[in-house]
Amino acid sequence: MNYNILAKFARMFKDTDIALLRTLIGSSDGVLIATHTHPDGDALGSSAALCLQLRSKGIRAVVAYPEPLPPTISFVLDGLDHIVGAEGLGEAMATCDTLICTDMNGLDRAGAFEDALRSFSGRRILIDHHLNPHLEEFDLVISTPEVSSASELEYWILKALYGTELDFRALYCLMTGMTTDTNNFANSVFPTTLQMAGELLAAGVDRDDIINRIYHSYRRNRVYAMSDILSGMKILPGGVAYMIVSSEDWLRHGLAEGELEGLVNVPLSIGEVRLSIYLRQEGDVLRASLRSKKGVSARDIAAELFHGGGHENASGGRLVIGEDIESVADAARYIEEKVKI
Ligand code: 5GP
Ligand code: MN
Repeated sequence: MNYNILAKFARMFKDTDIALLRTLIGSSDGVLIATHTHPDGDALGSSAALCLQLRSKGIRAVVAYPEPLPPTISFVLDGLDHIVGAEGLGEAMATCDTLICTDMNGLDRAGAFEDALRSFSGRRILIDHHLNPHLEEFDLVISTPEVSSASELEYWILKALYGTELDFRALYCLMTGMTTDTNNFANSVFPTTLQMAGELLAAGVDRDDIINRIYHSYRRNRVYAMSDILSGMKILPGGVAYMIVSSEDWLRHGLAEGELEGLVNVPLSIGEVRLSIYLRQEGDVLRASLRSKKGVSARDIAAELFHGGGHENASGGRLVIGEDIESVADAARYIEEKVKI
């Protein structure tokens, strides 16, 4: 049993990766940390934890996000100074010689930061758990889909680098990121995920506080809006459920960013539903979230029909009004005609 756990753990990264990472960080003159656009708990947790841990070791570190953080999950950064928006990024890029990206497989996931990060002339490192990392964009890639989350991978990396000398706040961030990416241990749980959770609990990380803040601190708007949107959900014969939320719906429910987090999972609680699609209008774009049960690839459908990608059972992308579809209402036709599982 121990042997299996160690074998899996050994495949996460090579000793030489850790040695190179140690050298790159140790010789750096400022580390800039960035993650994907529309950051979720794992993006925030893995980026914030890295910043906190490096600072605790006396390394200058800056963490930056392309757009304002969803208020529902911004608690992860409580008390941590950070850059928001492309304006602040210039100075950070000029004063850091090392870039570390977490929870994204390539720079095309960096949203408003993409062009700036492409022009970054220092060393570039990737820590991620998506398929198909863009190897050519980084000097060092530590990436495996065999973990729950970027936060989990980072936990094992930080342990390999610093042993027990880990920043306590960083551990809280990593536990939060792992919890949101596994949907509170509902998916992507590996032996190492539970091992990590056990170690963090033993270290005193307050999981009750994390659960309370992630899942039990919403405004009532969320529940009323979810009830309304779920009532309008359509289920197609093959087991595809879909929900479309227009900008007007969003305003009518008085919703804030992040308040429908998790909605896309709910249709999967129905036996015959094997794929759930949630589309949300943002101007001329409908952002797509897809979730599937085992045997259906949400990732393939996101890549084929929604200009996106992600994980096998949790993916995302978009539809562009005027290109893919004619109007918000036309998205229903698009799904009904094209999505086949
Ligand atoms: P969510 O539905 O929570 O927005 O996204 C679920 C997962 O899908 C994310 O963790 C990310 O891996 C992936 N994802 C979301 N949007 C995109 C996208 O536009 N492109 C790609 N490649 N992946 C995405
Ligand atoms: Mn993630």
